[in-house]
Amino acid sequence: SGEPQTITVTGAGGQIGYAMLFRIASGALLGPDVPVRLRLLEIPQGLRSAQGAALELGDCAFGLLDSIEVTDDPARAFDGANIALLVGSRPRGPGMERGDLLAANGAIFGPQGAALNAGAADDIRVAVVGNPANTNALIAAAHAPDIPGERFTALTRLDHNRAVGQLALRLGVPVSRISGVSIWGNHSATQVPDINHATVADEHGVWHPVPERLAEVFGSAPAAEQWLAGEFIPRVAKRGAEIIEVRGSSSVGSAAAAAIDHVRDWVAGTGADHTSVALASDGSYAVPQGLVSSFPARSVGGQWHIVQGLSITPAVQLRIDASVAELVAERDAVAALGLL
Ligand code: NDP
Repeated sequence: SGEPQTITVTGAGGQIGYAMLFRIASGALLGPDVPVRLRLLEIPQGLRSAQGAALELGDCAFGLLDSIEVTDDPARAFDGANIALLVGSRPRGPGMERGDLLAANGAIFGPQGAALNAGAADDIRVAVVGNPANTNALIAAAHAPDIPGERFTALTRLDHNRAVGQLALRLGVPVSRISGVSIWGNHSATQVPDINHATVADEHGVWHPVPERLAEVFGSAPAAEQWLAGEFIPRVAKRGAEIIEVRGSSSVGSAAAAAIDHVRDWVAGTGADHTSVALASDGSYAVPQGLVSSFPARSVGGQWHIVQGLSITPAVQLRIDASVAELVAERDAVAALGLL
């Protein structure tokens, strides 16, 4: 069996943390051969909840769970961390301005970045789940000058998985027959689900371009475009609200599953298909360098590589421009607050 890996989960007493911890401890994150040391970080008022989760984790007697520690000290939580799932963040309260929200999160993610910089393992990988996730990742990275910027990522895998799910549903195929979906931009209402490079396998295992299949399903290419713009994209972008309405509570199970997918693929590799991940732009697709924006990406050798050379349709480019502009505005706002 492998060397134990230290996995830090922040906001571990919250709902997503609760949904995530049992799967991590059972091997869903790093596979059946890697023991895990869990570190649960909470703010003081969240400690009891995290301690309760820790008691239950003990009761599961997971063979892979090497140890578990609950703390409100970031230095302790991130010491030797190989993987950090930054889930805890400050939700927007009533009457809270956007600047207040960014400032409140800066006060969380700046010190966490510094604590990671000071104590994390050399191979540290960071996945930010807490919103505004892209900009929180940007802030954390800015406070961790000794950690390569590429190790700070934010989650758009839930958006990606939602897009795959909706497409599969519409085409009447299992999700395993869909490949090549992309999410661009910010993890927000401006996110850009893009199916233009997606393919769908028929019952013989032959792959077909999704735009062509949709044009067949809807009778014409413009009708398919109308479905994409009028139903598919808004459905994916607003899926969180739909889940809250139907379930009476937010989409914690799927968020936790997506975070696990994100880290698992980062460590183990994606294979031929790409996925979507928000990471510091290297200037690809004219996204300003350093901005944490979602791209289609493959993980090879433990590193994300942005898929290059995809042709972007004019409609998608307009949406990407708007989402990137939103990220630039968030970056400028946190820079003005002195958080970068
Ligand atoms: P959740 O566990 O439900 O959510 C945590 C964060 O994930 C929120 O910021 C939320 O953003 C974000 N998120 C991303 N995707 C989703 C999704 N699909 N559905 C719902 N949320 C999503 O929140 P809780 O309030 O239950 O728990 C948060 C915990 O974090 C608390 O226990 C709190 O004490 C703790 N905390 C810890 C900190 C620390 O360790 N330093 C700092 C701050 C808080 P959004 O709400 O915008 O959707």
